[in-house]
Amino acid sequence: MTASAGDGAYADATSGMPTGMETLDQVAALVRGCQGCSLAGGRTNAVPGEGNPKADVMFIGEGPGAQEDRQGRPFVGPAGKLLDGLLASMGANRQDVFIANMVKCRPPGNRDPAPAELAACTKYLDRQVELVNPKLIVTLGRFAFNRYFPGEGITKARGKLREIGDRKIFPVLHPAAVLRRDELRPTMVKDFEAIAEILAEGPKDTEKGPGGVQTNRVIPATPQATQLSLMDAPDPAAFLAPVEALAPEIPADAKEGPLSPEQLTLF
Ligand code: SF4
Repeated sequence: MTASAGDGAYADATSGMPTGMETLDQVAALVRGCQGCSLAGGRTNAVPGEGNPKADVMFIGEGPGAQEDRQGRPFVGPAGKLLDGLLASMGANRQDVFIANMVKCRPPGNRDPAPAELAACTKYLDRQVELVNPKLIVTLGRFAFNRYFPGEGITKARGKLREIGDRKIFPVLHPAAVLRRDELRPTMVKDFEAIAEILAEGPKDTEKGPGGVQTNRVIPATPQATQLSLMDAPDPAAFLAPVEALAPEIPADAKEGPLSPEQLTLF
């Protein structure tokens, strides 16, 4: 007997112990064999997620795109290349973080995941969050942000450290949105600078809201120049390259997350 998603665990209802998802590898194995929603029928590969099992920061996107579906790995398409550059700009790489998605199988045509698909799949993400237990969760785009703060827009929320329960949530735009609108790139850079600040200094700037649940505390946007210069990145050229050079297939594959007008508009 199991308790399902939404309660933060996939656990035996009596003992409270996880059922078959004691490790990240077990979660991944279950994901690869999952038939829990209609997305199973259209996938080439499920994309469980990957990275450092003890990462301080966990990135959560929406769902796999075409290249992710082919390779079974998250964020390996154009948006993934941009994410790699952003990680490099803060002196990190994929081996330092954990990267996962809301749904583990590609929605056909890169459409938005349906509510039933999100509900069916969230048990895997919830368990990954429990197992990695990151200091900070960075949500990429609206869908992942709404997992924790339903109904809120990403445009106003991005770049502000939030707290829900004992989790620190830092929402940013989806990299695919930045690929579509290059003018969003400075905003994305600034938000990743803030991530580096949070990780370096600890989440001391968070404030719980009146209900003790969430905060609207804004992390200072001003970067520490000595810490976060793109010129210090291992491969800043990769990030600073023109969008076209980074992502010649943007129209086909960039969408690993929502591209709604709301997401693509800063103000
Ligand atoms: S999207 Fe999630 S719930 Fe649906 S089949 Fe894939 S792993 Fe299972």
